[in-house]
Amino acid sequence: MEMSSKLLERAVAEISQLPGIGKRTALRLALHLLKQPKEQTEHLTDAILKMRDDIQFCRECHNISDVEVCEICSNLSRDKSIVCVVEDIRDVMAIENTGLFKGIYHVLGGKISPIDGVGPSQLNIPTLVEKVKNGTAKELIFALSSTMEGDTTNFYIYKQIKDCDVVLSAIARGISVGDELEFADEVTLGRSIIHRVPFENSLKNH
Ligand SMILES: [Zn+2]
Repeated sequence: MEMSSKLLERAVAEISQLPGIGKRTALRLALHLLKQPKEQTEHLTDAILKMRDDIQFCRECHNISDVEVCEICSNLSRDKSIVCVVEDIRDVMAIENTGLFKGIYHVLGGKISPIDGVGPSQLNIPTLVEKVKNGTAKELIFALSSTMEGDTTNFYIYKQIKDCDVVLSAIARGISVGDELEFADEVTLGRSIIHRVPFENSLKNH
């Protein structure tokens, strides 16, 4: 895309690095910012930089947080013995929106996926295993999407804790196979947590 300004070209190139934003959309956004008062661009860049600099990951569950321990983990009315295992923070948001889950979460930060070069060592698995071994977690609810990567990850965790005194369950699949949690509607997702099934049952399907 030939542009009369190198400065504009650079801004468009940076904006189009974002997922789902092509060159055309990036140009539209850049031109929009040029038309707005300069403060708007300052607020935008300030918000993004602040987020980047100051955001933390909860020490306990690895959820995104502004403080060392996230609001969910520090909430005394949440049952810390029930731990819902999810892939990323979007799943936490989706499940929280149902308002039906009163336990806490453990955010793995992804799924085991050899194709994408993601191995178990890149995920927050050791801290989860520790919660089970030290007796803090009495029940784990596996809530990863039911893809091959999700199943592989569940099974990898299962192998490490299967001899521990812990109840293992999986969210009931009202959601069709392969659907990501974040796209499931709240009623279905809420129901699938309430009617969770023993984890061993979910193993039999494979
Ligand atoms: Zn937390």
